[in-house]
Amino acid sequence: MGYMKSRLTAAQSVEIITDEMPETIEADHVRLRLATASICGTDMHYYRHFANAGFQLHYPVSLGHEACGIVDDPNGFPFEKGQLVAINPVIECGTCDKCLSGDINMCPTKRFPGSATTVPHIDGFFREYFDFPAKCLRTVKEGVDPDHLTFAEPLACSMHSVNRAGIGPGSKVLVTGCGPMGLLATVGAVAKGAEVHVTDLKQGAIDAARAVGATQGFVIGQDDMTSLSGIYDVVIEASGSPHGYNQALDCVRKQGVVAVLSLIQPTEVPINLHINTLKEINSIGSVLFTSEFDEAVSLIESGTVDFDALIAGRYPVSETQAACAFMASGEAVGKVLIKPPV
Ligand SMILES: [Zn+2]
Ligand SMILES: [Zn+2]
Repeated sequence: MGYMKSRLTAAQSVEIITDEMPETIEADHVRLRLATASICGTDMHYYRHFANAGFQLHYPVSLGHEACGIVDDPNGFPFEKGQLVAINPVIECGTCDKCLSGDINMCPTKRFPGSATTVPHIDGFFREYFDFPAKCLRTVKEGVDPDHLTFAEPLACSMHSVNRAGIGPGSKVLVTGCGPMGLLATVGAVAKGAEVHVTDLKQGAIDAARAVGATQGFVIGQDDMTSLSGIYDVVIEASGSPHGYNQALDCVRKQGVVAVLSLIQPTEVPINLHINTLKEINSIGSVLFTSEFDEAVSLIESGTVDFDALIAGRYPVSETQAACAFMASGEAVGKVLIKPPV
């Protein structure tokens, strides 16, 4: 069966090809047709550099690890053809100490689609058809919008940070940076009953955060933020900039938590680490998720979050290059979605 596939061949170069699906489906896999995928910051690093966080792609690969699909061939598993399923992209080994303790994100041999960290690379979801392990698929309630369900993976990542930071009812939280991860951290913290404030360079991004429950927003370089010093129980750093991290150190209260959700790139900017000491800050990192994937799917099923406010645009697979370029432009507020060919 021929199908449409996008793949990154070099930095900023996406080609569209017709590929053939294998005749037979691997024993533990299910065949899916793309319902909706979305572009992650990680995909953007690969798009810009053909590498991410020091990991170089060895050969062309389809990007995309955030998606939901329609079952095309259940291959003997208890799914129905035509059914919408959420896709957990983490293929953990299931047998190591980390997997057995539930920390699948720490599994040293886990595999991940559209990523240079998995060799040989596994093609991601920016293509019309793909096979994926049955154990990674979750059925969802009738009527869930696939354009919302594609948020399951990034929402799970943000909720892992929210959980590790101990955010609960009444927590006073600041999210620095309202890119997609900051917006989804806002969603996760609000769902836990926290009061959430946000910062960003753009008013439009702050408006999107307000649409999903933030009660105050501050435009960096425009609004006075001196009164925010030392008042938050938790600051989630989601801007990826060292300035955002320094702001987090300033805004967190004594003995509060700074949770780094972004991938702050190596920098020449001084980090005010002495504040970590003087305020006894608990600094935590967060990567992927563990049990939060199911938590995220449940939150999406609940229909209580306005994900439409977090969608910046929709592109068919054939226009993956344009979708990535739009995301790279910095003009997009929220997620850029990839849809199957019509
Ligand atoms: Zn992602
Ligand atoms: Zn493992």
